[in-house]
Amino acid sequence: MGNPRGFLEVPRKKSGDRPVDERVHDYRETGVEHPPDVITAQASRCMDCGIPFCHEGCPLGNVIPEFNDHVYRGRMADAARVLYSTNNFPEVTGRVCPAPCEASCVLGLEDAPVTIKDVERTIANQSDEQLRPRAAARPSGRRVAVVGSGPAGLACAQQLVRAGHAVVLFERDDRVGGLLRYGIPDFKLEKSLLDRRLAQMIAEGLEVQTGVDVGTTVDAEDLRSRYDAVVLAIGSRVPRDLPVPGRELAGVHFAMEYLTQQNRRVAGDAEASAPIDARDKHVVVIGGGDTGSDCVGTANRQGAASVTQLELMPKPPLVRMPDNPWPEWPLVLRTSSSHEEGCERDFSVMTRALLPDASGQRVAKLSAVRARFTGGKLEELPDSAMDLPADLVLLAMGFVGPERPGIIDALGLELDARGNIVTTATGSTSVPGVFAAGDGSRGQSLVVWAIADGRRVAAGVDAWLAYS
Ligand SMILES: Cc1cc2nc3c(=O)[nH]c(=O)nc-3n(C[C@H](O)[C@H](O)[C@H](O)COP(=O)(O)OP(=O)(O)OC[C@H]3O[C@@H](n4cnc5c(N)ncnc54)[C@H](O)[C@@H]3O)c2cc1C
Ligand code: SF4
Repeated sequence: MGNPRGFLEVPRKKSGDRPVDERVHDYRETGVEHPPDVITAQASRCMDCGIPFCHEGCPLGNVIPEFNDHVYRGRMADAARVLYSTNNFPEVTGRVCPAPCEASCVLGLEDAPVTIKDVERTIANQSDEQLRPRAAARPSGRRVAVVGSGPAGLACAQQLVRAGHAVVLFERDDRVGGLLRYGIPDFKLEKSLLDRRLAQMIAEGLEVQTGVDVGTTVDAEDLRSRYDAVVLAIGSRVPRDLPVPGRELAGVHFAMEYLTQQNRRVAGDAEASAPIDARDKHVVVIGGGDTGSDCVGTANRQGAASVTQLELMPKPPLVRMPDNPWPEWPLVLRTSSSHEEGCERDFSVMTRALLPDASGQRVAKLSAVRARFTGGKLEELPDSAMDLPADLVLLAMGFVGPERPGIIDALGLELDARGNIVTTATGSTSVPGVFAAGDGSRGQSLVVWAIADGRRVAAGVDAWLAYS
């Protein structure tokens, strides 16, 4: 531990964002990094506890007190070495991770937790050495196909290449990155960071084939016969729909249609044939999670007339409740940088219908009612009906599992009751030599879990190849 009194002397200071009236006019990263002296002081707050629960809170098991100590002592290269020993992409998690580590920081029991995520981002921003391609491992002579290039597929592929296997990464989109590329907006994660990481992975020996939909454009069994192992990192991409009257009206879209279009615009792609644009529109986002928040930020940047976000669940408390004690993930109200940019949020609201304009073709209003859960059942509150102006309705109510027609059906994989791919602890599916990682097997989750899964399954594949 660098400074044994750090946590007594230095108050927690979170890094902030650029001013709202500046950042809503562009798609550059909102976050601003702490200057070096501030991040050093923040790292010094780490108490180097006997039992650091932050390890447990971080799905990657990041070795947090050790990298905090290196940062406090100004040894950034050592901090990066420690950080990269458990995390392939800290430049990503240092920006988009909700930081469950901080929720389980022991300092958080009596005081405000260490700003672990900020420290991680600073280390990642100063880790040039870790961005250089690593020397090639001795070739194993084994070939692995990784299907899907989100964080799970990327982490798995990098680990397998570094273990000496010949890895081909197949991606059906035109660019690599999965939801990091076409879901999460640039104002949270600039895509140049992905391109830089991909360049390193290719230099290390990874082969990438984009525009290949395995199970459709490439036969899944054929792929299986050509590779010693196949890893499916195909995500959980079937969006939850809203079965109400008016769902078919123009102006009602899944969040991912909307977000993907804007991410492509920022990347300089040609405009879509049916562009979705929030300019001067009353936008209603249905769903209170990360995806909904990203729609809010995007709609404000496009110049929406108003943005409202509706959530079916009740408003969470502002502070931890007694039945949600440390070190559990705090179930409290979260306000993102996008919410700060302008958004009306309402809770316990159930959409009953989407109503058309005079043409009968386009959505103009959303009809809703207040509702509460009683005994596990949703009950409408009397006299609570309301209509909201709604020229653009974005459905951000989560995802129900990986897509069924295609590779899952072609390989005949066993699925669980929720439609996710069944795997063992090492990632094996019901089909020998086929593994699965990330949201496609875990269910809709977080980037940090996808990276952790990718690493765990790469170890499983490596062990399996050694004995098969
Ligand atoms: C809008 C949005 C915002 C989010 N924001 C955050 C956030 O701020 N922080 C956070 O931690 N998490 C966030 N998440 C969740 C996070 O992005 C996911 O948990 C994570 O990306 C899952 O990684 P994955 O690799 O399993 O799948 P994905 O990222 O979904 O990647 C799967 C890839 O597989 C490809 N694929 C699928 N089928 C095939 C096939 N047959 N052949 C070839 N390729 C195929 C897909 O095209 C895709 O590129 C967000 C999710 C969304 C939708
Ligand atoms: S990856 Fe997420 S949980 Fe792990 S140390 Fe970084 S911010 Fe914390």
